[in-house]
Amino acid sequence: MSAHSDLTDIYPNAPEIVVVTGHRVSCAGGQGGGASALGHPKVWMDMGQGTSVECKYCDRVFIIADDTGEH
Ligand SMILES: [Zn+2]
Repeated sequence: MSAHSDLTDIYPNAPEIVVVTGHRVSCAGGQGGGASALGHPKVWMDMGQGTSVECKYCDRVFIIADDTGEH
């Protein structure tokens, strides 16, 4: 059920894991507190063939919402 908990193994440095609905995401930090609270220049990231991407600035991880059609 909690597939996202696995991400903490993949991304042990992630201060926050954000579930998104598109493969292209933007991040400007400043959300969720912690080390990223000060924010950073807004950047766009593309997951490409993957299902997650890590922000190179604040280490937050963005994961695509479950779109596998699993029911
Ligand atoms: Zn960021």
